[in-house]
Formats: sequence, C-alpha cells, structure tokens
Amino acid sequence: MRSKVFINGEFYDREDAKISVFDKGFLYGDGVFEGIRAYDGKIFKLDEHVDRLFEGARAIMLEPPYAKEEIKRIIIETCRINDVKDAYIRPVLSRGIGDLGLNPFLAKRASFVVIVDNLVMYPQEIYEKGMPVIVASTVRSSLNALPPVIKSLNYLNSILAKIEAVNVGVPEAVMLNESGFVSECTGDNIFIVRKGVLITPPREAGILEGITRKTVIEIAKKHGIPVEERLFPKIDLYIADEIFLTGTGAEVVPVTNVDKRIIGNGEPGKITKFILEEYRKLTRTEGNPIY
Ligand code: PMP
Repeated sequence: MRSKVFINGEFYDREDAKISVFDKGFLYGDGVFEGIRAYDGKIFKLDEHVDRLFEGARAIMLEPPYAKEEIKRIIIETCRINDVKDAYIRPVLSRGIGDLGLNPFLAKRASFVVIVDNLVMYPQEIYEKGMPVIVASTVRSSLNALPPVIKSLNYLNSILAKIEAVNVGVPEAVMLNESGFVSECTGDNIFIVRKGVLITPPREAGILEGITRKTVIEIAKKHGIPVEERLFPKIDLYIADEIFLTGTGAEVVPVTNVDKRIIGNGEPGKITKFILEEYRKLTRTEGNPIY
C-alpha cells in the first residue's frame, strides 16, 4: 500500500520514515504504543486506545509532545493521508533523543509516530476451524516488575514466548504468571467457557487490559452470558468447553487445541461464534469517522 508515516509533525514515505539511533525507544524500549483498527472508514475505540496510551505515558513519566485531542486528530489525519478505509494503525510514543545513559529525563522531547498499514490478521481458516496454541514456559512479567498493564515498547517477555510458539509451529502461546495462573497470550487476551460461563483472567493476573476484552465482556453481559473475571490454572485450559483469544488485530479467534489437548469437540464453540459475530457487527457500526 502507498504509505505515509507521521513522525514528529511531518509525513514521510515509508522508505524515508526513520528515527535516530539515539532515540531511547530504540536503545532501551523506553516508550509506549498502541494497535488500533479502522473498519470501513471508521476508527474503532479510538478514545479508549488513546486513553491507554496516555495512561502508559503517565506511568513512565513520559510527557507526550501533543495533547490528547491533538494526538487523535493526527491519527485520523494519518489515515486520511493514506487514503484508507480498513487499516491497522500503530501510534508510538518514545522517550526521544538523549544520550546513551539510562536517565530518561535527559531526552528533551518525546517522539510521536503514527504508522498506518495493512491488516495483519490470522488466516480466515483459523476463524472457521480454530487454532492450536501452547502454554509457554516463559512466565509473564510480574505486575511489580514490567507491568503488562503498560503497553510498553519492551515486548521481549512476549517475544520469548512467541519464539516458543513459532518453534513448535503454532501461532500463539498462552503465558502463566509467577503464581502459575493463566494471564494472557503474547499479543492477545484469553477467555475460556466452562458450563456456559465465560471466564477471563483479572488484571491482577498480569495482563494488558485489552480493549477487545472489555468489549467482549460488555457483549456477553448484554446478551445474558455470565462472565467471571477470576484467576484459573493451566489445567482449566485443558478441560475448557471453549477457548478464544481477543485482540484488536485478532478480533475473536477460536482456539481448539492447547498443548495437543482437543478443546470441546475440536471446533469453534457456540459461544465463541456468537461473540465473534456480535463483535464484528459492532466494529462495523461504531467508530470515529476518518472522512
Ligand atoms: N495482550 C497483549 C500482550 C497485547 O499486546 C494485546 C494487543 N495486541 C492484547 C492483549 C489485546 O489488547 P487489545 O484488545 O486492546 O488490542
């Protein structure tokens, strides 16, 4: 696709979209980012994504170079310049240019980048048949170390688990926290269904509080499906009736195999299919218009 990238006030062609090697985001993963989607000319849950970006920035004492409303305007403008209706949008706030030391406050001004790209989705077949996952041996970062609540530029914890998944030929890995409870996947939240109840790990499990996760909980409650946010161990994955993952890019993706255990009857379950359908309806009705 024709692609223009916003960097600190200017639009650059993809090939010329470059950030300094002295940027703390590059040197130390010092920054925060978002993954947003546009559907049919509308940006889904823009406010929620920008709120989360700003919360992360506040937590790491990073002063965004633009006010919140301006950031939203820039995101919409970048979509417009790229002439897209359906897209994946990646805003990035990094600490900016400083010296080689760790002190973040020596960087004078944070950098803000917006990349608009084609969708990176799982293949259609996965939505029809479900996908296999593994439980990674890499433990999710502790809430008191590198809190998964912050969508920081340091994704090495997820990448270590993703390597485990790719090495055994599956697309995603479920991660447990230090206490052995299920937390989330490398880039998606997780839900299980047991006896008609939808269960998902709470924020204390060490998760990114996914915007898709929140939307799915709202959909379930609206339709009278009971939802529990509670801790559960790995064994509950193996005996679940249904499992699905949620994320902005993935939407709602059925999981039919965990560590070679067949989930339910080996096909996407009824509740999973219902939630996916309702989620897709919502993404096509709500959102901030680009044009
Ligand atoms: N967990 C992690 C680790 C993620 O990176 C993401 C986003 N890709 C999610 C969960 C899902 O969050 P959201 O629904 O807001 O995209």
